[in-house]
Amino acid sequence: MKKHNFNAGPCILPRIAIENTAKAVLDFNGIGMSILEISHRSKDFQAVIDEAVALFKEVLAIPEGYQVLFLGGGASLQFCMVPFNFLNKKAAYLETGVWAKKALKEAKLFGEVVTVASSGDKNYTYIPKGWTVPEDADYLHITTNNTIYGTEIREDFDCKVPLIADMSSDILSRPVDVSKYAMIYGGAQKNAGPAGVTFVIVKEDMLGKVERVIPTMLDYRTHIKEGSMFNTPPCVNIYTLKETLKWVKEMGGVKKMEELDLAKAKLLYDAIDNSKMFVGTTEKDSRSIMNICFVMKEQYKDKEDAFMEFAKSRGMVGIKGHRSVGGFRASTYNALPIESVQALIDCMIDFERDNA
Ligand SMILES: *Cc1c(COP(=O)(O)O)cnc(C)c1O
Repeated sequence: MKKHNFNAGPCILPRIAIENTAKAVLDFNGIGMSILEISHRSKDFQAVIDEAVALFKEVLAIPEGYQVLFLGGGASLQFCMVPFNFLNKKAAYLETGVWAKKALKEAKLFGEVVTVASSGDKNYTYIPKGWTVPEDADYLHITTNNTIYGTEIREDFDCKVPLIADMSSDILSRPVDVSKYAMIYGGAQKNAGPAGVTFVIVKEDMLGKVERVIPTMLDYRTHIKEGSMFNTPPCVNIYTLKETLKWVKEMGGVKKMEELDLAKAKLLYDAIDNSKMFVGTTEKDSRSIMNICFVMKEQYKDKEDAFMEFAKSRGMVGIKGHRSVGGFRASTYNALPIESVQALIDCMIDFERDNA
């Protein structure tokens, strides 16, 4: 049976990126060896990482002065590397969910942290508005897409202090004005590639301003200097990331991705809003187009498990909501075809017809 992959991460990837990775694992560039078996310092692998950097710069129109790095440790290591490299005395954080909170917790190890606003009062179901940033903050940290609760900031706002964004789950889903950010980072495994590689886009002249000593591996300048090869990088993951970026480019770039992602999200949100049985969990003006969270209305709550089983029997995968929200979450990342969204909606309509 055809599977419709709504996993939140790791998640669906373009089929072509998977096929090309499989080929490179068996015989890389026709050299008679697997990409798993060659040196990261070989000319063949150097070409892969160079192309990945070039494609990232091209698809996101990254301006001069920024470096693209591929590191290990996930977005979670960035929660600590960011304050290590940027926080002198005070940092500001916008608390919009679990990931934002985890980032904020690490920053507290390095200095004073101001929470400019939090949506924790309503279980992170909205993006706070009307907050201000202390002008003496070394930076403001935001999480553009709240993967667990399904809210998203889809604009690049002006900020008086350097802006740093965790874009783990919405990178490549829209054009970004990179010039507004001091740094953008994320785990690749939500929309950019497989697990095991972390992307960092950093403005080089923002570095070197903290007074503390930074351990070599945790200093962005080390990785800039060594072209992400201070130590052995996750080679095959970078290969798949490169293939994913190539697919994004060939599909028409991030503008096209945004168009497709908006269409998928609209289709599903409209179905939720028109349903007797289901209801969205987030405020409408904060809705994410990447992670769409919904539950059953109070009077149907006891049917959630039955719907899960029904959807599973129709090939739906990964629609269980995060335990802190419950209900359902459909992640509609770039590689998910609109037909899968329609298949989920058909499930919802058929289930509602027989059970409401
Ligand atoms: C998944 C996720 C993370 C954590 O990423 P890891 O690579 O597992 O450390 C951080 N931030 C956001 C927004 C995420 O969705």
